[in-house]
Amino acid sequence: MSAIELRGLTKVYPGGVKALDSLDLAIPDGEFFALLGPSGCGKTTLLRTIAGLETATGGAVVIGDRDVTGLQPGARDIAMVFQDYALFPHMNVTDNIAYPLRIKKVGKAARQQKAAEVGARLGLEQLMDRRPGQLSGGQQQRVALARVMATQAQAFLFDEPLSNLDARLRLEARTFLKKLQHELGVTTVFVTHDQAEALAMADRMAVMESGHIRQIGTPAEVFQRPANTFVAGFIGSTPMNLLDGVVRGDTLEVSGCKLAVPQSAEGLLHDGEKIVYGVRPEYNVYSAGPVDGSLGGNVSIVENLGASYLVTLDVNGVLVQAVVPEGHEPLIGDEGYALPRRDRALIYRDG
Ligand code: ADP
Ligand code: MG
Repeated sequence: MSAIELRGLTKVYPGGVKALDSLDLAIPDGEFFALLGPSGCGKTTLLRTIAGLETATGGAVVIGDRDVTGLQPGARDIAMVFQDYALFPHMNVTDNIAYPLRIKKVGKAARQQKAAEVGARLGLEQLMDRRPGQLSGGQQQRVALARVMATQAQAFLFDEPLSNLDARLRLEARTFLKKLQHELGVTTVFVTHDQAEALAMADRMAVMESGHIRQIGTPAEVFQRPANTFVAGFIGSTPMNLLDGVVRGDTLEVSGCKLAVPQSAEGLLHDGEKIVYGVRPEYNVYSAGPVDGSLGGNVSIVENLGASYLVTLDVNGVLVQAVVPEGHEPLIGDEGYALPRRDRALIYRDG
């Protein structure tokens, strides 16, 4: 059984923006599903349409085994955390957490007990009488989480819940939230524009672009085998090199260099065909001296990544990046050669 299923879901806003274009998606029970994509691609619209805060223009939303497409938000049995947490400033932490229970007409004693229980689980015991204005960003975020947990909904929807936290808190919250979801086992859709966050947290993920899902898979699948150049360029802490090339017999001509055909494309290419050659900087093996089948040029930028360096080569006017271990970094102006790993390089035809 899928906990959440979308069938041909479409949303056109008044004025004509097609924010969702016939999306199909099935999220199994208990999964942590991340929805990744650039700003404006339709992530918030998708969550709000699942929650019932927006009316679908076409298609269906199924939660559990119920078609909830026409139902009001309150009848859908899901809980949503918004980017700005949407806490009530005039209520203390207990009342904020208990609010959805009040709406559900749960009695006061039971509400307060549940709020105390969930608050304790999230380390908020000492803060239950404070108002949101008296809390740090990280604490407010925990209150928003607690409020969602208190509802015991069938599914949780998170809209960029970590984006207002500073870098360090964000990393902590990532781990914390992932662990919590695992313990609770509640189906979760987590929206983010941060590819590292999606890769780190998700069981499976979708990459969205302008109202479409471009790829669905595990983080490892999406990272190792991006389905197209959009996903390839979006995933990874350093973007994949995407280089125009032409098939020449059983080799490739890329930026004036002769490269071997990647393993994944063996037997699939036609002489003279135009392709886009993709290789991540991490899989572009750098040498100071000439190597057969490499991209050779001059070093134009050297960036420190901490334990390694990101070296940008100018290869006949095209910029090519390689990650080089510390201690082996070249100087600007040096000759350099990047040899793509044949078992990792990819060929695209959608460039
Ligand atoms: P994301 O959350 O990925 O940044 P959104 O779902 O907020 O994207 O927006 C998707 C598209 O729909 C954008 O082009 C945005 O401008 C448009 N949009 C969002 N909300 C509305 C609205 N209430 N009315 C009209 N257009 C909207
Ligand atoms: Mg959004």
